[in-house]
Amino acid sequence: MAMDESLLQARPAAPPEMERCTSCGARLSEKGYARFPCPMCGARLGRCWRCRKQSIDYRCACGFTGP
Ligand SMILES: [Zn+2]
Ligand SMILES: [Zn+2]
Repeated sequence: MAMDESLLQARPAAPPEMERCTSCGARLSEKGYARFPCPMCGARLGRCWRCRKQSIDYRCACGFTGP
């Protein structure tokens, strides 16, 4: 039962500009997502089109929540 290390090493790294939805964690690769700075701390937040459509709350690491 040896671990196949070659599989782990071959895993491609995600591009740095790939961000995730702050609400559900989905990758912001589809059209319709929004990126904006947190009104409180200025951290980068992102929302996918699904969470925007359903008006799901997001929560920043600083504790700020908003629609
Ligand atoms: Zn989402
Ligand atoms: Zn914040």
